Amino acid sequence: MNDELEELYQQVVLDHARRPRNFGEITGDALHVHGDNPSCGDEIDLHVRFGADGSVEDIKFTGQGCAISQASASLMTLKLKGKPRTEATELLNAFHSLVTTDTAGEAPRALGDAKLLAGVRKFPQRVKCAMLAWRAFEQALALANHEAKQDTVSTEEES
Ligand code: ZN
Repeated sequence: MNDELEELYQQVVLDHARRPRNFGEITGDALHVHGDNPSCGDEIDLHVRFGADGSVEDIKFTGQGCAISQASASLMTLKLKGKPRTEATELLNAFHSLVTTDTAGEAPRALGDAKLLAGVRKFPQRVKCAMLAWRAFEQALALANHEAKQDTVSTEEES
């Protein structure tokens, strides 16, 4: 492992990879998205429950793969849980530019520890690892938006 790559595996990242937060499944009414990154062998199963107001009421994941992919998923769930959908979308976009563009230091404070993954931008293969969970969340958002449209023509009440 070279020095630059080693820098990626900072203590916080390793800690999240070893003891992922919000690890598990959501029982009951939740969206489920599976994502995989064949080039590295990473897999993520993301479960998201959006509240009636559209916020990220609960978010959990299970998965396996490299430390970057699992730590990124863990950090992401901490950032997104409880956030309104608009803010969650902003965080998604902010994280994407963090790992794909060369604007170090300009990442929004809101990303918190997730900013530690900025170093992956030097390693295109690692960007896929870091983005895996966020891509899954992007899909969950798209599913939720689709469902919201269907709800407007449905008269059924959810209990
Ligand atoms: Zn990976």
